[in-house]
Order: sequence, then C-alpha cells, then structure tokens
Amino acid sequence: MDRRSFLMRSGMAAGCLGLSPVIAQAQVGQATLTTVSDGSLTLPGSFIFEPMPQDALQPILAKYGLSDAQLTPECNLALYRDGERTVLFDVGSGPDFMPTAGMVTDSLDALGLTPEDITHVLFTHAHPDHIWGLLDDFDEPLFADATYMMGRAEWDYWWNPETVDTIGEARAAFAVGAKRRMEVIEDSVELFDDGQEVLPGIAAVATHGHTPGHMSFELRNGSDAALILGDAIGNHHVAFHKPDWISGSDQDGGMAAKTRAMLFDRITSERMQIVGFHLPQGGMGRVDRTSEGYVFVPEGA
Ligand SMILES: [Zn+2]
Repeated sequence: MDRRSFLMRSGMAAGCLGLSPVIAQAQVGQATLTTVSDGSLTLPGSFIFEPMPQDALQPILAKYGLSDAQLTPECNLALYRDGERTVLFDVGSGPDFMPTAGMVTDSLDALGLTPEDITHVLFTHAHPDHIWGLLDDFDEPLFADATYMMGRAEWDYWWNPETVDTIGEARAAFAVGAKRRMEVIEDSVELFDDGQEVLPGIAAVATHGHTPGHMSFELRNGSDAALILGDAIGNHHVAFHKPDWISGSDQDGGMAAKTRAMLFDRITSERMQIVGFHLPQGGMGRVDRTSEGYVFVPEGA
C-alpha cells in the first residue's frame, strides 16, 4: 500500500466516524472552485460580541441557535483549479494553534491532492488560522513547490518590528507567529496591491479592517465571478444581520464595517458566488438581501 492509498483509507475511516467535513464545490466558467476544511476553532463569544449592543444581540443569537459564551466556527480554505494552476487561498492553522484545526493536508488528500500539487498560495491576511500552517515538521514551507503571494500592506504591517508592541496584549502572539512564518518565505514571496491581477483571472480587492492589509480576491472565468472573502465577512450571523456593527474580531472595527458594506453591495448586485473562511457548511454560497440586512445561502441549500 503506498502512502496515498493509506491516507485515502484513513480519510475514509474518518468519514465513517462522522469527522469528515463538508466540501463544497462549484464551477466558475471552465475552472473549479472547491473548499477544503482545515477543521474548526473554539472561541469565546466575547471575541466577536463584546463591543455589540447586548440587548439587540440576544434575539439574533437565538435566531441562529448560538450561545454568547462559545463559538466553534469552521475554517474553510478555497481551492481554485483552472487547468493550469492549483491555487490555495491561505494555508490554515498547522498543528500549533488549536487542536481542532490544522487538518488541511487530510482534506486535500481526500481530493487526491498532495501539498506539492499546490502551485500558488494567496494569503488574505496573516492571522494564525490563515498562516500558521505554512511550516512543515522541518520548519520548511509545507507547500514546497508553491509561489507564495501576499498583499503588500499586510506584509508590511506584520513585518514591522513595532507591531508586536502596538497590536495589544491579546494579539501579541499573533504578531510573533506571523513574523516567524514570513521569515521563511521572505526571499521568494511576491507582494501585490489593490486591483492588481495577481494571476490570470484573479484580482486583488482591498478589504482592510479585519487586519490593516486584509485582501479578498475576485475570480473571473467566462461570464462567472466569485469572491474569496477571507475574514472580511467573518461569520454568517451578526456580520450578515448587522454588518454595520463593530465586531471584536476586527482589528479596526470601523474600517471593517465600511468594508462589509462595500462587499455586500458588490456581491448582491452581481449575484456573485462567495467563499468565506469561517462561513458554515463548507463556506461557499450566495447572499440574499433581507428587510434588515443580509443572509448567507450555502451552496446546495
Ligand atoms: Zn482573521
């Protein structure tokens, strides 16, 4: 039995135990857009809800069956295959962030892909659940044959030696962890700016606020379009229901709220497919406008 078939069998065993994550898939023109799970996070609700009006929050939590004590969001990486390139958006948490996350290589394996099959890695931002998976057991890049690409403003923010002191105590470890990973790709990383066509059919869209240089990506193939959101719309509940509310999960809450308003306008007016890193049921779907705000409609729902 070779390594691939062994891992496929382990994957099937995990599926039998009910551990297999949802994998969502759709065509964008001639290309295939898939989400691969990196597992999930366990967060105190206060991480998101703390700055929100608590009375108005309660009915929203009830509507979505959520507790304000703890949240367990999925982590869904987008994978875009256009026949020439196999592009992964972010790399997940790796083994050192949370025990429930860091399973992207298993999810890729279930699709018959190895880390060496990834030709490009495009980062939305450098938070732990998006970049800590960069390193393998030997502290080398896990996706050994990939070209790594990041927005210039995001790179500059985390590369700045002052960030660890200015980001605040709660996120100081984020700064240390991001810098350590970025040092490994410093000589080869390709930086890009807002509006730039990063790869054929993939354009960078500045969605700053969640982090100072957060980037989303617009995919176009034929007449189809999709938007890889990263954490610019960070959950399916308050971020959709009350996009103007300041969220504790955003580093600049005001800027992030303006970014969400811009994104919801764009997504609904063009009826675009979206992938949100922490959205449920695989993270892929569309957006409907409601009388109060917006609602996430998962692919296949
Ligand atoms: Zn984030």
